[in-house]
Amino acid sequence: MFQQLSRRKFLKTGAAIGWGIAFSSAARAGDAKAAPSKRGKRVYIMTDMEGVAGILDSENWCKPEGRYYDLGKELLTAEVNAAIAGFARAGATEFLVADGHGHGGINPKLLDPRAELARNWSPPPYPFSLDESFGYAACVGQHAMSRTENAHLAHTGSFGVFETTINGTPVGEFGEMALCAAQLGVRYIFGAGDLAFTKEARALLPGIETAAVKHGTTSGRGDECDRDAYAKRNLAAIHSHPQRARAMIAAAAERALRRAKTDASFGILALKPPFERVTILRRQGKQPKQIGRSSHPSDGIALMNAPMKHEAVKE
Ligand SMILES: [Zn+2]
Repeated sequence: MFQQLSRRKFLKTGAAIGWGIAFSSAARAGDAKAAPSKRGKRVYIMTDMEGVAGILDSENWCKPEGRYYDLGKELLTAEVNAAIAGFARAGATEFLVADGHGHGGINPKLLDPRAELARNWSPPPYPFSLDESFGYAACVGQHAMSRTENAHLAHTGSFGVFETTINGTPVGEFGEMALCAAQLGVRYIFGAGDLAFTKEARALLPGIETAAVKHGTTSGRGDECDRDAYAKRNLAAIHSHPQRARAMIAAAAERALRRAKTDASFGILALKPPFERVTILRRQGKQPKQIGRSSHPSDGIALMNAPMKHEAVKE
């Protein structure tokens, strides 16, 4: 049942069940460690669909039964290619693209041939094929975390998550990967997505380079919403034209890597162990709001893979 896991599926189901095994970072990376000079040319790119310019909603664009799903995958893949082009202009030569959208969001046929593609992770899924062989990490198509104002299609893993915090700091999918990257010594230098996401990224990782390709126009946090209402809430947005979005992404990715080479001060998340993760789930049908916790004394990746048991929140 859990042979093959997407990020979203894991967050929706696996997080409540858990695998109970924390691999050491050495075992995870295998013998993939690369010499420092090679690391500086290797970029890992996590991808998602909801933060892509021209992807207008989740129902029609991000699900296999949606009318525009194939077009949505084309739009994401083109944005990823733009980031690769930008990084390549700044000297990167090797790229691993992680297809992190629940249903898959990359069209392999259209992906830049310089890139390898990772998808369908065996448990435990974090850190989604990221390892110490990479010098840099980035994301494309990223959306903001749940509860963010003016954020297009905001959620954290699924629309059912109200909020996730690590050591008291609210984090979204970006923050969770930034935690994994920091532990592996990989600098997270670039993120593309909607404007609210880019603000979230810069607040969590000051100095990160970003590209905002659209902006949501629904005000308020939506805290009153149950899962289904929240899924339908943040659909309003103004999108850049896809061509313009790609140009912005390529320029910003190039800038990110050029800056990173001369400025070592950005790209590593400041959160320090011991770690505690708290996730609150929205009401869903008759099920009340629920809360779950996990903790780890030293390992942020094990924290993300740790089992979490939820219990009802008394309101
Ligand atoms: Zn997502």
